[in-house]
This record gives sequence, structure tokens and C-alpha cells, in this order.
Amino acid sequence: MDTNAKGHCPYIDNPLPQCYCLRSESIWAERVLELCAKRFELCEYYRMRCEEEHKSDGGGPKDP
Ligand code: SF4
Repeated sequence: MDTNAKGHCPYIDNPLPQCYCLRSESIWAERVLELCAKRFELCEYYRMRCEEEHKSDGGGPKDP
């Protein structure tokens, strides 16, 4: 049993254009099953999007 599985990616319903789940080539199917469906925290696009959302939430430096 895989105890590290977290569930599907929260962005799967609103993916980035470069997301694996939007790619039609079968070579990406394994990543969709592994990352999008189970281990999204390992996905570089998931991480990138989290960082961008953190910045837009005011996570960056503030004006005095
Ligand atoms: S796991 Fe990555 S590729 Fe899949 S939907 Fe989430 S951000 Fe996109």
C-alpha cells in the first residue's frame, strides 16, 4: 500500500497550458497517473504555481 499518496492535484480542474494532463501524447500518461492523480507535490508545475500564488498573495516584500 502506498502511504505517500495524497490524492489528485487541486489544479487538475484548472490546469496550466503545460500541464501533463492536457498533453495528448501517451508518453505523458504515466506522469498523469503518478503526479496528477497521486503525488502532485512532486510536480514542477504544481510547485511553480504554488510559488506564483504565494507571491500574488503578498508573500513578497512590501512597500514601506
Ligand atoms: S500535478 Fe502538475 S501537471 Fe498535473 S494538474 Fe497538477 S500542476 Fe498540472
